[in-house]
This record gives sequence, structure tokens and C-alpha cells, in this order.
Amino acid sequence: MIDLYSLSFEQLGDLLASWGEPRFRARQLWVWLYERRVDSFAKMTDLPKTLRARLEAEVTLGSLTLETEQGSKDGTIKRVYRLPDGQLIESVLMPYDDDRRTACISTQAGCAMGCVFCATGQMGFARQLTESEIFEQAVFFARELEAQGERLSNVVLMGMGEPFHNYEASLGAIKRLMDDLGIGARHITVSTVGLVPQIRQFADEGLQVKLAISLHAATDEERSALLPVNKRWNLDELIGACHYYVEKSGRRLTFEWSLIQGKNDTPEQAHALGKLLKGLHCHVNLIPLNPTAGYSGGPSAEGRIKQFVAILSDYGIPATVRVRRGIDINAGCGQLKVAVLKREKVRKAEE
Ligand code: SAH
Ligand code: SF4
Repeated sequence: MIDLYSLSFEQLGDLLASWGEPRFRARQLWVWLYERRVDSFAKMTDLPKTLRARLEAEVTLGSLTLETEQGSKDGTIKRVYRLPDGQLIESVLMPYDDDRRTACISTQAGCAMGCVFCATGQMGFARQLTESEIFEQAVFFARELEAQGERLSNVVLMGMGEPFHNYEASLGAIKRLMDDLGIGARHITVSTVGLVPQIRQFADEGLQVKLAISLHAATDEERSALLPVNKRWNLDELIGACHYYVEKSGRRLTFEWSLIQGKNDTPEQAHALGKLLKGLHCHVNLIPLNPTAGYSGGPSAEGRIKQFVAILSDYGIPATVRVRRGIDINAGCGQLKVAVLKREKVRKAEE
């Protein structure tokens, strides 16, 4: 069955034309999909009954199947979706007091980057998501928010997976978030562990989308121990690409730093970070480490965090300490994880 969310406006027009429908039907249907955001053909009341019946029989409204949903006491919602081949992914919705509604979506089932403190990294890589599998995670939240009289306002590509290891699909999904779902570029953030060629490529795209770099350590020795990718592209190459991005895009860069007690929260690391980021138009997001099963480190104590922020401030680097979200349901940064399905089981689901 064709998934309607996988079609561009043109492709939708072609499909309906091949059914003998007039051209304006595509616009009508498009409005139901992306402006009114309904979740069933029955609700598309200005379409003829016969067309609705044919749509019902021959196409789907999304390829993701909701498997489970959990709610945190802070309002965060975490979902597990089943993909058509049986693979599982997670996405998270975070409501904020200032009316922002932020979807955190996955770009891969699992992740191949192996960052030691990340639950997704600990589970390994299952497969790439398609452009529409990435896009649909946001559409599903947008649909339900719409039904409650709310609007999805922000999207972060910070769920499972490394967006720049699935570059074309992630970029395609970002464009659809902007063009079709109407999310402003400045309300979209893509986060990378530091794939240098793709950071440069992304700078060349000329988008106003926010870019975040997961840094976590300011010396090669420390960073390679936490993020194996640093052995492929070291800090020198990474920071070089960051300068290129800022110059090319004219945008401020965000660095992410998960504070691990006694590890990367020392005054030495703070000074090293201050020196590393000198002259770079940037901002640092500090996130106390979220616990994961496969890593023994813990979050930094408050005193350490304050000291870290103070040292960065001496270097003129603005830093914000992020409030951890959804920890009680393992929905926080780096906590997303699902069982990797055995190949056999995946194949069965395909049949
Ligand atoms: N793969 C991308 C985006 C997904 S991870 C990336 O790594 O940037 C989103 C953020 O959560 C990254 O900054 C990542 O380093 C961070 N993170 C991973 N594990 C974490 C943990 N246990 N606690 C806090 N942050 C974590
Ligand atoms: Fe992958 Fe990002 Fe987790 Fe590293 S932190 S393993 S890149 S999802």
C-alpha cells in the first residue's frame, strides 16, 4: 500500500490523476494532510464518498504503527513505533510552559556510533530510516496536537541515531518539515556527533536550521574514550568544520556537553573547552548525564556545574544548563533504546 505521507504534492497529484480525479483534489487532500492534520479519510468531509472509500482501500495514512506510549510526570510523552519491517524506534514529545511543543525524532533504528554513555549507541545499529519514516514521527505528533487544539512548534532530530550518518534522508525530512508541515527552519535542530564532511556539506545547504554538535570533551584523549567517532575525525578537524559552518552560514553553533561527574566536569576540562571554542560564534548546552544501563558514570553535582559555567563565562562563552526531561520513563537525552530485532523476526514481518 502507498503511504500518503511519503508522497510529494506532485506525486499525490499524479496518483489522483491516474485515478481519474480532477487536479484540484490534490490540493484538497493536501490541506487535510498537512494543515488540518486529520488522522482518517472519514474526516475529509469535502472529498466525495467514493474517493474516500478508494483511499481507505488503497493507501495508508502513515507507515508507523504505535506500539506503546508512556507519559512522564513532567508531561513528556515517549512512544515506541513499529516500522513496516518489524523494526522498532522511539520518538518523544516535550510540552513546555511557554507553549512550545517539541518533537524529538529518530533518524535511524539504533546507531552505529557507539558513544559509551548513550543507550542507543549501546544497542547497536539496526537500519537507516527512510525520509518519510523520519518525517512521519513529527506528523503523528502534529496530528494529535491539532486534535487537542494545539500546534507542534519545534522539531529536534535528536532521537535514536546519527542524522548525518543518514544524511540524505534526514535532510529530505527536514525540508518536508519546513515546506509541508510548516515548521520554521529556526524551530528545527539537527544534532550530530561530529561527522566532519557532513558538517561542511550541511553548511553549504544554506538552511536556517539550527545545528548542534555533541562535543562532551575538549581533549582528543578524553573525547575518543567517550565518542569513538573522534578517532576518525579529531577535535582539530571537528573545530575546523565548525568554523567553516559559522562562516558559511552566519549562524551561531550549539555545542552539547553531557556533564559526567568527575569525568568531563573538571576545571581542567572547562578551561580546555574555553580555549578550544575561542573565537567561535557559539553557545554551550550543558546536560547533566542521564543514567543508562551500559555506563557507570553519573550526573555532575550542582557545585561542579556552577563552577563549569563560571569558567566558560570567563572565556566569554555563554552556557545554559538544561533541565532533564522524562527521566522517569527513560525518555531523556541518550536514553532511547529498544530491543534490536533478530533478522529472522524482521523478515517474517515483511512477508
Ligand atoms: N546522534 C546525534 C543526536 C542524538 S543524541 C548526536 O549524538 O548528537 C542527542 C544528544 O544526547 C547528544 O548530544 C548526545 O551526545 C546526548 N546524550 C547521549 N547519551 C546521553 C546521556 N546518557 N545523557 C545525556 N545526554 C546524552
Ligand atoms: Fe549515536 Fe548520538 Fe547516541 Fe552517539 S550519542 S551513539 S551518535 S545517538
